Amino acid sequence: LYAHPDASRLAELAARRDAWLEGQRRAKAAGQTEASTPDGRRIEVAANVGRLKDVPLALEYGADGVGLFRTEFLFLDRGQAPTEEEQYAAYREAARLMGDRPLIIRTLDVGGDKPLPYLDLGEEANPFLGWRAIRFCLERPDVFMPQLRAILRASVGPDGAPNRVRLMLPMIGTPGEVRQARQMLATAQDELRRAGVAFNEGMEVGIMIEVPSAVAVADQLAREVDFFSIGTNDLTQYVMAADRGNARVAELVNPFQPAVLRMVRDAAVAAHSAGIWIGMCGELAGNPLATPVLLGLGLDELSMSAPSIPAVKDAVRRLSLAEARQIAAEALALDSAEAVLRFLQQE
Ligand code: PEP
Ligand code: MG
Repeated sequence: LYAHPDASRLAELAARRDAWLEGQRRAKAAGQTEASTPDGRRIEVAANVGRLKDVPLALEYGADGVGLFRTEFLFLDRGQAPTEEEQYAAYREAARLMGDRPLIIRTLDVGGDKPLPYLDLGEEANPFLGWRAIRFCLERPDVFMPQLRAILRASVGPDGAPNRVRLMLPMIGTPGEVRQARQMLATAQDELRRAGVAFNEGMEVGIMIEVPSAVAVADQLAREVDFFSIGTNDLTQYVMAADRGNARVAELVNPFQPAVLRMVRDAAVAAHSAGIWIGMCGELAGNPLATPVLLGLGLDELSMSAPSIPAVKDAVRRLSLAEARQIAAEALALDSAEAVLRFLQQE
């Protein structure tokens, strides 16, 4: 804050503002084209979206798709869960705005750091280790089924033709959870079929990899789904056993920890061995310093907050896949997050 800025201060600030705006304009223009490495490996660079009104912003910054559409916004700041119709309207509008680009809609991820009074989640000693996300949804068909039907209905356009809406389940820890969720999805499909409502029979279903057990059994999980997306925000806190909201342990909650990067590697190997694609939608995906490592580990898609897209696309264009693989191998051999960061800064 500048109290009573004089003319020269105002001129200086105006010049800085113009330079910032020009930088944003150039970044948005540079973000519009697809990103490939110089040796031709295309990476999908997508946006994380937390509200419907952020979808146009994602497109402005050049998102190739939406890799994480968080649906919690529909459930927050109100006295009861949104109806199927309300949800359908929001998902349909997001799909319309995205056109022929992919839109990954994540099912409700409440609990943990996202309590909702009217859903009666109860008091828990360890909410992050408790009844959250998919664990909650599987036991609450009254909440989950309307959401599944709304997403299915949004998976076709107004003409009934399939669009590129995909469904993603958060906090999956076991193959049994995926099977249970898919069973509920099959029930939702039956209900729509009986009612003569159109949906995409081939809609892709994926899971977030954000619990260490999911990495350990990633080969089994890969048989149940069409794609993985790594949520490094949660994965880091669970791998490092360090609360992502606790400043005292902030040094541990660092996705550049070699332990976390090795989890990313293992999940990518499992996904590709099973012939499915793997992305990342945790914060690490939006850090251009990490781009060489993530490319080198074989990620197919990176999803991030929209303003990070141009810098990450730029990073993708700078390195061949062979160079990225070399950097990833060297980074994963280091033994601290600081060493990894120093190494990547040098590179
Ligand atoms: C994550 O955990 O990395 C993630 C993307 O999900 P959220 O931040 O919404 O928990
Ligand atoms: Mg998460």
